Amino acid sequence: MTVSIRASLLISAIAMAALTAAFAAPEKGDAANASPSEDDAKAAPHPAHWTYGGEAGPEHWGELANANKPCTVGLQQSPVDLSGAVSASVAAPIPKWIPTHGGQVINNGHTLQVNVTNAGGVRLDGKDYALKQYHFHHPSEHTIDGKVYPLEVHFVHAAADGDLAVVGVLFDEGAPNPALDAIWATAPVKEGEAAMAAEIDALKFMPPKVGVYRYEGSLTTPPCSETVHWTVMSNTITASPGQLAAFASLFPWNARPVQPLNRRYILKTAG
Ligand SMILES: [Zn+2]
Repeated sequence: MTVSIRASLLISAIAMAALTAAFAAPEKGDAANASPSEDDAKAAPHPAHWTYGGEAGPEHWGELANANKPCTVGLQQSPVDLSGAVSASVAAPIPKWIPTHGGQVINNGHTLQVNVTNAGGVRLDGKDYALKQYHFHHPSEHTIDGKVYPLEVHFVHAAADGDLAVVGVLFDEGAPNPALDAIWATAPVKEGEAAMAAEIDALKFMPPKVGVYRYEGSLTTPPCSETVHWTVMSNTITASPGQLAAFASLFPWNARPVQPLNRRYILKTAG
């Protein structure tokens, strides 16, 4: 199950120099790299530094800050392996996203994230959630029956009361996804942000069939807050080997390991 990941990492190592050219010049993000002043730091303390490996890696996230306690003691953590799902006739929440101009593409040191406004959203169990941002994980965080995918995109939505609904879509290796090119081309190579020039239609990241997995979970990064209604599309989309390797050249591994399901059920709709 790790063969495709190994392959893409290998491609990444071999082709890193060439692929880095696919990303925007780093100077676009330099302003955001400036160190905050002492006053800024006091007014808005940065969250504890965390990583995907080593002493600040996932098994230590809960120790890095009090706010991160759920990462260790939470019983509804994400991601999870999507297996043993219970077939259910719950509604498949279908995103109604609006193509956006002028979003921000951010390299936050953990992922590439696209921040958007007025981008539509999703209706889930009678409640509206607005799309705020989407970002990527390599390899996938969610797995299906133990299978790891090379890339996963998370669409993060918030309701007016602060409830979160995240929609995840898994990528297989295959045909290129044109919507990725515009994001990759805009993304700063180093930490920072850049304005998106091209129109992005996030619906290009939706598989044609609408079956979903749903479960109650958490943010997959610190502070691992258990406030997320998760939807993961049960059908995959594709990205080309080059697109996958380009992301992996910046983020060789930015996936939290799967977490225990504990007393939760995963629901699965047909499709
Ligand atoms: Zn995520």
